[in-house]
Amino acid sequence: MTDYNFETLAIRQGHQQSSFQEHSEAIFTTSSFTFKSAEEAAARFSGEEPAHFYTRVSNPTIACFQDRLAALEGGESCVATSTGMAAILAVMLGLLKAGDHVVSSRSIFGTSTLLFSHYLTKFGIEFDFVELSDLTAWQQALKPNTRLLFAETPSNPLTEIVDINALSEIAHQNDSLLVIDNVFCTPVLQKPLALGADIVVHSATKYIDGQGRCMGGAVVGNKKLVGEEIFGVLRNGGISMSPFNAWVFAKGLETLKLRMQAHCDNALQLANWLQQQASVEKVYYPGLADHPQHTLAKKQQSGFGGIVSFVVKGGKDQAWKIVNHLKMLSITANLGDTKTTITHPATTTHGRLSQEQRDNAKIADGLLRISVGLENINDIQNDLARGMK
Ligand SMILES: *Cc1c(COP(=O)(O)O)cnc(C)c1O
Repeated sequence: MTDYNFETLAIRQGHQQSSFQEHSEAIFTTSSFTFKSAEEAAARFSGEEPAHFYTRVSNPTIACFQDRLAALEGGESCVATSTGMAAILAVMLGLLKAGDHVVSSRSIFGTSTLLFSHYLTKFGIEFDFVELSDLTAWQQALKPNTRLLFAETPSNPLTEIVDINALSEIAHQNDSLLVIDNVFCTPVLQKPLALGADIVVHSATKYIDGQGRCMGGAVVGNKKLVGEEIFGVLRNGGISMSPFNAWVFAKGLETLKLRMQAHCDNALQLANWLQQQASVEKVYYPGLADHPQHTLAKKQQSGFGGIVSFVVKGGKDQAWKIVNHLKMLSITANLGDTKTTITHPATTTHGRLSQEQRDNAKIADGLLRISVGLENINDIQNDLARGMK
């Protein structure tokens, strides 16, 4: 279906009707598939005759989600995983060995930092962390054994942006691979593979579901890296997605573009409104003209996303006051939901860091992060205004 446009692929790609000719995609909740004969069993197990035989390895509902997301990201292969972290783990286990070196952005999802620095280092993989938007720092951190560069753009919670195309050139000159965590933009707003990245990772838990129901992840890239090497980690390591979750995510992709556009519209309005509030010191949103990478965001992304962060005057006390006067916004660290959520990073997602580490990461005590949902923008603003008053 590759000659269809994005919106069409999001709705129709990957659906393989069963003999019942169902119109909506079916959910195949079965752990195994039967064989007509011993010969068929042997041929399917060996891979000589491709077919689904065990859901840890493959399943029609999971395949539907994988095909659909691969088409939207413009990749040859996609593997679905049990969570977003499982997707990142699968990339690392599939592509790295002891003695390899990785350069990663410092501004990545907190659990990704812990996975790299506490666990993967135990297996002899070495990590260096650099400032996301500083291309010179990336270049200088490279070593002959650097196999992989890892970045998340825009970053969480400060929406910092790196030039994916320039970073891919730095990676490829060193024979390294570039992996981009595309959770914040989704393929609706940003296509890392077209910009030169080798692999895209997702937490489907966020915008792909979009309604805060299921955990899942995915890796997209070429047949060799993703379809063989990373798929092997899933098949043998068992961090596969459940068919029910795959069905939720496949259906989520059908409305992803409309939802992302609505998230972007609400977020831009909220960012502009926040800039006008007397109690707000600074607003972080790539759609604002004073964002340091506003021009790059316009070039690299087709929208600015749904995450807005801002610093309240008066530090933690004033930030907590706003949070505690909310009647509607959900106080939770999840993001990418129809429901607007708010967090105080310094005492939650970044609470395990030292004050110095938080200062380096620019996580101010008065910083609040909002994942702007799809409620009416006036209701979102009124809820925040209550606490500010
Ligand atoms: C949530 C998130 C992850 C991890 O995904 P889970 O589904 O929670 O395992 C990775 N990267 C980013 C940017 C995220 O927001």
